[in-house]
Amino acid sequence: MKHIPTLQRSTPRPRKLAALRQAHQDWSDSADILTRLTRRLSTSLSLEIQLGILAEELSDTIPFDALNYRHRIGHRDFVYVTGMGGPHRCEYRLSLEGVHYGTLSLQRRQKFTEEELQGIEMVIGAAICQLRNGCHYLAIEQAALTDSLTGVPNKRALDDALTRDSGLANRHGTQYSLILCDLDHFKNVNDEHGHVMGDHMLRLSAEALERTLRTSDSVYRFGGEEFAILLPHTGEAEARDVADRARHEVGKLQVDAGGRNLVITASCGVATYLADESPEQWLARADEALYRAKKQGRNCTRVFATLS
Ligand code: GH3
Ligand code: MG
Ligand code: MG
Repeated sequence: MKHIPTLQRSTPRPRKLAALRQAHQDWSDSADILTRLTRRLSTSLSLEIQLGILAEELSDTIPFDALNYRHRIGHRDFVYVTGMGGPHRCEYRLSLEGVHYGTLSLQRRQKFTEEELQGIEMVIGAAICQLRNGCHYLAIEQAALTDSLTGVPNKRALDDALTRDSGLANRHGTQYSLILCDLDHFKNVNDEHGHVMGDHMLRLSAEALERTLRTSDSVYRFGGEEFAILLPHTGEAEARDVADRARHEVGKLQVDAGGRNLVITASCGVATYLADESPEQWLARADEALYRAKKQGRNCTRVFATLS
């Protein structure tokens, strides 16, 4: 039989409790930079907030004009910059237990003294564990929003973006358009060339769609062989052009499949956001336009036209 230890009721220890209360008070009130820094850093797992705290605490002791941090997390470059640079610069490659956690640099007009460099290292040393946690947290967050096959944001990320952008459209009256882009007869690609080739074509298609877009636009993997493109500040006519360019780019893909040239096409449905509609209604209208594109022969774009 398994022995389960029971919690022993012991006599109260008022002196130890008082000491704990005092220690907590001292820790909360402590004005020394390292205690304050680690205390503040422990309040957030957001790398951006942590770097803001680090910059603030560091500048209190060691003045600088700019702090720059960059780190490749998942498929993306995370960049944090505060202030404007100067000619003198010191740079640190952050690592803990042999793992790299980004590069942090400081710039300013005057040279950094040896004492200041030592001070910076002490502060970074005190912050590194929390920064590592921030990096891990961001990596997990990103993984949850990224499609592992193609590396583009996934359906969950699209849902978040549609909610955000419909809110912005309603508040500021900005035009937003949504394109749903579905690869034509993709089942045949798998059936004739196998899933590995199908996966390869999906990756190439995501890259092709990303090539078509401005930096403000984003591609999402919406479903199996279906992608979504969200276009800020874009009306119906312009979105149709983007959809046609996207289809053209996918159609240009040529892959050697055992001596045969494998070419695919795509169909697109476009819907521009209508005031006060829900993200689901917006998506449903783009889907309806896509349905028409499929029904009317594929390899074409259809727009859910509005009267305005
Ligand atoms: P349509 O033109 O009507 O869209 O025809 P379709 O064959 O593209 O559409 P259907 O919905 O019949 O089939 C979708 C295909 O996409 C079937 C499925 O095997 C394939 N697919 C979905 N996800 C993946 C994936 O992750 N990898 C691969 N290789 N194929 C996938
Ligand atoms: Mg399809
Ligand atoms: Mg489909």
